[in-house]
Amino acid sequence: KVRVRFAPSPTGPLHMGGIRTALYNYLFARKHGGDFLLRIEDTDQNRYVPGAENYIVEALRWCGIPPNEGAGFGDGPFSPYRQSERKEHYRLYAEQLVQQGSAYYAFDTPEELDALRERLKAEKSAVQQYGPSTREGMNNSLSLDKEEVRSRIERGEPYVIRMKMPASGEVVFRDIIRGEVRVQTATLDDKVLFKSDGMPTYHLANVVDDHLMEISHVIRGEEWLPSTPLHVLLYRLFGWEQPEFAHLPLLLKPDGNGKLSKRDGDRLGFPVFPLEWKDPISGETSSGYREKGFFPEAFINMLALLGWSPADEREIMNLRELTEAFQLEKVHKAGSKYNYEKALWFNQQYLQQQSDHELAGLFLPLLAEKGVQASEAFTTRVAGLVKERCSLSADLWEQSWFFFLRPESYDTESVKKKWDAGKKAFFDKVIQLFESDQALWAADAASSPEPVPGEQLLEEKFKALMQEEGLKPGEVMLPLRIMLTGGKFGPAVFSIAALLGREETIYRIRTALP
Ligand code: GLU
Repeated sequence: KVRVRFAPSPTGPLHMGGIRTALYNYLFARKHGGDFLLRIEDTDQNRYVPGAENYIVEALRWCGIPPNEGAGFGDGPFSPYRQSERKEHYRLYAEQLVQQGSAYYAFDTPEELDALRERLKAEKSAVQQYGPSTREGMNNSLSLDKEEVRSRIERGEPYVIRMKMPASGEVVFRDIIRGEVRVQTATLDDKVLFKSDGMPTYHLANVVDDHLMEISHVIRGEEWLPSTPLHVLLYRLFGWEQPEFAHLPLLLKPDGNGKLSKRDGDRLGFPVFPLEWKDPISGETSSGYREKGFFPEAFINMLALLGWSPADEREIMNLRELTEAFQLEKVHKAGSKYNYEKALWFNQQYLQQQSDHELAGLFLPLLAEKGVQASEAFTTRVAGLVKERCSLSADLWEQSWFFFLRPESYDTESVKKKWDAGKKAFFDKVIQLFESDQALWAADAASSPEPVPGEQLLEEKFKALMQEEGLKPGEVMLPLRIMLTGGKFGPAVFSIAALLGREETIYRIRTALP
């Protein structure tokens, strides 16, 4: 049975890369009718950040990719899913390796470890670490006699348990994305498996838990590829069946120069976190996709295609379609460049799919924040009129504020350009026309959810008058727009007038007339 896990360490908020790892795990599990679980790898107490675990849970929920088992998701048959609550398992497994002669106790003090590093540096040795060629003579149970080791442990002297990396040989394994990987064990070090604080290291806890939790596929970031030979050896030493591995490509900065980092987002003005993150230690806040106004569906869609693409090159895909099309072996080997414009484009596509009514639901709270009161019906009509110009829901305001507030300043340069008495007279007549011909204005346009019939009639009458006066559209349409909105952009000008209604339209023309 397919069982995959997302195993973050609660050392900070999840960024895009982390969410993409979770997403690929989710898609793979769903596609194969398997389980997707969340395990919290919190064995490094120095790096623990309060609030990070909650953030992870909330972020997965917001993204719509909840695990079906694990910490924060109702636990399950392999509980607990927090490694700090599973401490007793790991010690036993570490001791087992010592018994087998595959691991050993090491009592080296920080000073002794520093001295080793200095010596290797001075010798310009090819190996710069505690391992097959350097462990001899160090303060460990390979060099000390049995009695000595026992009495040191009984006296409570701090020790760690290290892997005894074979001095020669090769580890070979297959990665679903990268193919065969071969590594000489002589180039690897004797990693600490169990620490003096009674906690396992990542390597031991990760392998033990993947085994105990019956994980079939380990899908994780490329940064863990160098650790995998050690993990493979551990599976063999324990006599466990090893899972399959798939290492996902990095997410790169927009210019392709290096790994995408939190600072890129802060510096270049795009979010790298799904949700806003307030660092409990520094107090700094980093913006999130949710707060920027992204739809989780758009965020997930964009993220799924950073490192993988379906055979048919489709781009807009919902979670169900992504699940159906997803193929782990088609994940790219090379890193993927992040592009904020593209993220906005995805959101724009999703925004267009919303009904005007749904958009009004998003818009009304934004209006309330601005202190603007508007009816739902009016807001719905406005949203429908401007949505195609919006990528984020916040853009609704920028594109339509003039429906809710009167312009305070006008692009007078544009109005006055070639302004003359003839045009002034024309607009006076427009006011008269708009005032006298009530039929032009659909009965209660502002509160009608139906298309406003007045808008075509308005255009026809306005243009007829324009022709009578010998004027051209280029001479009067832009001034009309500026009078109504203050600026040069926006939806069709008669749609604006119709929605503003008779009184407001006349008021604005009158106020703006030079
Ligand atoms: N705890 C590791 C992390 O924070 C998990 C890596 C893995 O999936 O094995 O990314």
